[in-house]
Amino acid sequence: MYLRMAKRLIVETDKRLLWKLVYLAGWKGFRSVQAHKRRLKKGEFFPPFLYLSIINSCNLRCQGCWVDVTAKQTKIDLDSLNRTVNEAKAMGNAFFGILGGEPFLHKELLDFLATHPDAYFQVFTNGHFITPEVARRLKQLGNVTPLISVEGTEIVSDQRRGKPGVLSKTMEGLHNCLENNILTGVCTSVCKTNIDDLVQERWVDRLIDMGVFYCWFHVYRPMGPDPQPELALSTEQLRRVRQFVVDIRATKPIIVIDAYHDADGQALCPAVTGFTHHIGPGGDIEPCPIIQLATESIHDQRPLRDVFNGSQFLREFRELTAQHTRGCVVLERPDLLLQLAEKHGARDTTQRQQVFNELRATQPRRSQYVPGTEIPERSWAVRLAKRLVFNDFGTYSKHFAPQRWVDPDATLRPQDKVPGERRLPVVQPAHGEEQVR
Ligand code: SF4
Repeated sequence: MYLRMAKRLIVETDKRLLWKLVYLAGWKGFRSVQAHKRRLKKGEFFPPFLYLSIINSCNLRCQGCWVDVTAKQTKIDLDSLNRTVNEAKAMGNAFFGILGGEPFLHKELLDFLATHPDAYFQVFTNGHFITPEVARRLKQLGNVTPLISVEGTEIVSDQRRGKPGVLSKTMEGLHNCLENNILTGVCTSVCKTNIDDLVQERWVDRLIDMGVFYCWFHVYRPMGPDPQPELALSTEQLRRVRQFVVDIRATKPIIVIDAYHDADGQALCPAVTGFTHHIGPGGDIEPCPIIQLATESIHDQRPLRDVFNGSQFLREFRELTAQHTRGCVVLERPDLLLQLAEKHGARDTTQRQQVFNELRATQPRRSQYVPGTEIPERSWAVRLAKRLVFNDFGTYSKHFAPQRWVDPDATLRPQDKVPGERRLPVVQPAHGEEQVR
């Protein structure tokens, strides 16, 4: 597998683009994580990776989307974008995730990317606006990797993304990137309707044949105004996706990203470990894209360094969540988020102003944390990389109290049980201690 990967790197890639990836995202990204570790030791905080949702508008209407895509357009203006990235670069950051809505609807996106040749950007996109001309520009810039979302077969894609013909337009965008030798990824939000089509070796083989450099299997998280919880994976399916990712990493010449497990397969949340936080289209500083609550903004008249370091809301989000679970707090403990928001007076950062009601209506469900089901990495290269740059940085050993974890399946209401679905047994709290809410 390693030889086949090396061959792909040598034969298929544009060496200039590869060098930019290795230097800007790899080396500088590594250094930004080391700077983060040093800050943590001194009791300071600034996340080494920032995700920026630069615009709310989108041409698609995906199931379970939490962004106000049909509302009045809100975007981060170019000056604010540049200021934010410059301040993060001053802290040693070099890698940024760009989300939307659909980021390519932001008219100044390419100018923004061009302003920062010393940083690397991953743009989460549906690919519809990546024309041959845009792809040529991306190649010329060299500091960007498009991460194009594919949500299933033609039929499932149309259903998932709310209009016909989505997949072929996405594949056109993907093709334009690959034609230009851009290092391109494909991501999928895995749910009940696409797991059987895409969590498959034949799909990964097809991506490799097309020249796709990396893939990312997110799992669907029912959130937002129309969460569609019936699409969410069962615990067994979550485990199947995790096993698939571990196996593909060890056997196929393609990079597979996942953000929820360390080298030993222990679950983690990258917002809780402080690896990343998110900035929304209105400039609000949030724990992660699906937690649309904030007490601070990039438009506050304070240096970003002071804003992140001084945010009591974000600090307590990280510490309180880490005490209760290694999984996803949104799925497992929406009540904790409500408590936290009320305590800190956090505002709903959406235009629909329904986030508190949405959290109240969320039925807790299992996420990546199911103790006793950990699947360690098989690939030594992934194990090494995770030990160096992707782990909990001591967060859970410092804060996690297993007796505080509440197994969401133990609280499942009869009406939320899916007929015929097999569930893993309810997990008992560690040390025989009583569960506390
Ligand atoms: S809170 Fe959930 S969705 Fe947000 S970063 Fe953590 S695991 Fe991911």
